[in-house]
Amino acid sequence: MRRLPFEAEEIAILAQAIDASEDLISDFYKISTSEWKRYRYDIQNLSGLDEEEVTDVAFAQIRRYLRRPGDRMRGSEPGDFFKICIQDHVIRRAVERDTGIGLFPLTAYIVTHELIHVVRFAKFLHRFDSTADEQDAEEKRVHALTFNMLQKTRIQGLPEVLAAFKDCRTMENFLAG
Ligand SMILES: [Zn+2]
Repeated sequence: MRRLPFEAEEIAILAQAIDASEDLISDFYKISTSEWKRYRYDIQNLSGLDEEEVTDVAFAQIRRYLRRPGDRMRGSEPGDFFKICIQDHVIRRAVERDTGIGLFPLTAYIVTHELIHVVRFAKFLHRFDSTADEQDAEEKRVHALTFNMLQKTRIQGLPEVLAAFKDCRTMENFLAG
């Protein structure tokens, strides 16, 4: 499988999808703008990933760092930092395979799902180090939350994405880094 990162046009679509997803999540969880800035995560596409952050079998990986990468200062804020690693090549393959699936609704769907995981880790609603059974239950919950949140939006092409991926078992992998 060729791993080609998104080009400028696709990056712009991903950026719009991230904005839309962050708005949805902060509305849903009633997180203010200043609170939102304290959430410790970053979203990177394929060109910003390390080798171990790349996979061919999921739309994303969530990597947990015990501190922000490059953050060596003493006294920096404690707490986990999450890197959402977007797998451009896997996403593009899904869009090209299925003519009913658009890049904007699919990336909005993926980013919303991943951000729900991150918010639930940050709020300690779910532990990063959990058993396979707990992870399965959490994945079902996150799918249901994603569905509820997105169902009310009017993103064009979203009903097709929801129908195709609402029970998708290969949304992401989790990496403890
Ligand atoms: Zn998930």
